[in-house]
Amino acid sequence: MSRFWSPFVKNLVPYVPGEQPKLSRLVKLNTNENPYGPSPLALAAMQAELGDSLRLYPDPNGEHLKQAVADYYSIQPDRVFVGNGSDEVLAHAFQGLFQHDKPLLFPDITYSFYPVYCGLYGISFETVALDENFQIRAEDYARPNGGIVFPNPNAPTGCLLPLVAIERILQANPDSVVLVDEAYIDFGGETAVGLVDRYPNLLVCQTLSKSRSLAGLRVGLAIGHPELIEALERVKNSFNSYPLDRLAIAGAAAAFADREHFSRTCNAVIDSRERLVAALQVLGFEALPSAANFIFVRHPAWDAAQLAATLREQGVIVRHFKHPRIEQFLRITIGTPEQNQALLDALAGQQG
Ligand code: PMP
Repeated sequence: MSRFWSPFVKNLVPYVPGEQPKLSRLVKLNTNENPYGPSPLALAAMQAELGDSLRLYPDPNGEHLKQAVADYYSIQPDRVFVGNGSDEVLAHAFQGLFQHDKPLLFPDITYSFYPVYCGLYGISFETVALDENFQIRAEDYARPNGGIVFPNPNAPTGCLLPLVAIERILQANPDSVVLVDEAYIDFGGETAVGLVDRYPNLLVCQTLSKSRSLAGLRVGLAIGHPELIEALERVKNSFNSYPLDRLAIAGAAAAFADREHFSRTCNAVIDSRERLVAALQVLGFEALPSAANFIFVRHPAWDAAQLAATLREQGVIVRHFKHPRIEQFLRITIGTPEQNQALLDALAGQQG
């Protein structure tokens, strides 16, 4: 705290990101990165940009990337917004689309950035409890609100809400924007992008950080009715007229075009997830059903915080959250088969 800080900053409670350790020998299963590299075509596209063209400003609208996303989903490019990571896209959506006369609704167990954006933009919110199986219950979102946001699959649980339930939420709230944060949708979920034409109140947010393995490039996007997209563009253009650099536009567009690399690496992660869950169940763990590139597990006999600390001593980092309802769980990112084996070996040692 400093006397030079504005009253606004004094009251700000920032998001605390997961640890990015300096030691490369650690088995890093804590922040849901993809264990496989990005598309070679994306890398080549970025290489091609590395030259004299960096002298010039990028396209302020990122049209090339919007077109690649539009081609991928067979939609019009005016339904696409692109930004600097989905964190930034979400921030613009919170500022541009959520109303202040009624509270924003989101699950009690969810992405912990949502309350931070509420603090940043002065948005009041109410949390809606997940049910006893840690699932979102669509019926609970049929009450007055100034907007609704949830990840699908949810984070950190990994649980997927089927599209029929999302449609129920959309139909019960025709006057509110429903923001579906699909950061992890490509690991077995079904995207709500196909609903955008029928529901002008639906905004779908996605990232290239997970299924396209470009977390370091910082590219996110939103898909929705052009009226919603225009709100995001207004906020963006009042903040930074160049949200994406030339490398990001080129690399992200090429990543969307490389369907083969995308589906092969997503399938490898899904396959590893199923194997890891089975192996952890043999060790006595319970796992929530996951449609993400991470799993949420607990062991009836072990203290989760203690276990996370012990694993860290053995060079494996996983994520533990202090929230009382989930403090018995660990969130484990799916790694390569070798990384997953290193986790299992560390756990076997723990048991013995
Ligand atoms: N939404 C959810 C649910 C997430 O877990 C994350 C990753 N921490 C993000 C959005 C943000 O991803 P990025 O900014 O890397 O696109």
